[in-house]
Amino acid sequence: MAYDRNNVFAKILRGEIPCKKVHEDEWALAFHDINPLAPVHVLVVPKGEYVSMADFTANASPEEIAGLFKAVGKVAEQLGVVETGYRVLANAGPDANQEVPHLHVHLFAGRPLGPMLKKAGS
Ligand code: AMP
Repeated sequence: MAYDRNNVFAKILRGEIPCKKVHEDEWALAFHDINPLAPVHVLVVPKGEYVSMADFTANASPEEIAGLFKAVGKVAEQLGVVETGYRVLANAGPDANQEVPHLHVHLFAGRPLGPMLKKAGS
């Protein structure tokens, strides 16, 4: 899938629409999800134009890849959830209901998060 520069996270990265920023560095921006599904729900996005994890791992530089994952770790530290626990998740494609076509890692925390996935049919 070609990258669409009009997606909402591209606009946030360009400063065209606001976000509640948690962390920013050379490689990544982290901000609170506008529709949180847990007491802590933060999105960590790479600054480069990548649609998905497959696009990112195939086409990003090692520095960009390390930068995104280090940012996820820093955000967990900064939010104080390393001891209590947290979940990271990246949706890709239709079966995962990816809504925004710019790679993003969700970080959920702040309550017991339950089973990893709902079983089919439940
Ligand atoms: P996904 O389904 O993995 O693509 O998740 C997209 C996420 O982006 C959802 O959890 C939305 O609530 C979130 N989202 C959409 N627009 C914004 C925005 N302007 N600021 C912060 N989060 C957003």
